[in-house]
Amino acid sequence: MKIRSIKLVNETCWSTDHLWAFLRPLVIQELDKEKWKGLVITFTPRRSQRRTEWRADGEAWCWCSGYASWRDHTISIRVPTKFEQLTAREKVELAAVIAHELWHINSRRGGKAVEIAMRRSVKYGRPKTTEGRQEQAALYAWAAALPLEKA
Ligand SMILES: [Zn+2]
Repeated sequence: MKIRSIKLVNETCWSTDHLWAFLRPLVIQELDKEKWKGLVITFTPRRSQRRTEWRADGEAWCWCSGYASWRDHTISIRVPTKFEQLTAREKVELAAVIAHELWHINSRRGGKAVEIAMRRSVKYGRPKTTEGRQEQAALYAWAAALPLEKA
């Protein structure tokens, strides 16, 4: 199965190749190969594009958000687009949100309890503690190092 059996729809200003570079390792890590085919991942601009301060260290960043439908086999990822570049923290966030939505597709699970657990997790969420955030930054250091340039 080729990774390009997944369809990436890019409605943002960011380079499609650069978005693929975020997506590729996460697909390999999170999604069983038989589920690759026919998956449609759409990247769209986030509606509210404000950088807000995050409790622990006061760093300001704009969140990503996502939605997965395992019935339709689709994911949508909403990304900040109005900035010249995303910060390292925002790229880590992008990776975690993609991983989060791929997990839903792979496990075909959702619901409130799952969501609460995931949102606290280092791998799939937004850890609230400084320690958790550092752990997440280390886990997704590769994503923070990727270029994300305007197409
Ligand atoms: Zn979720």
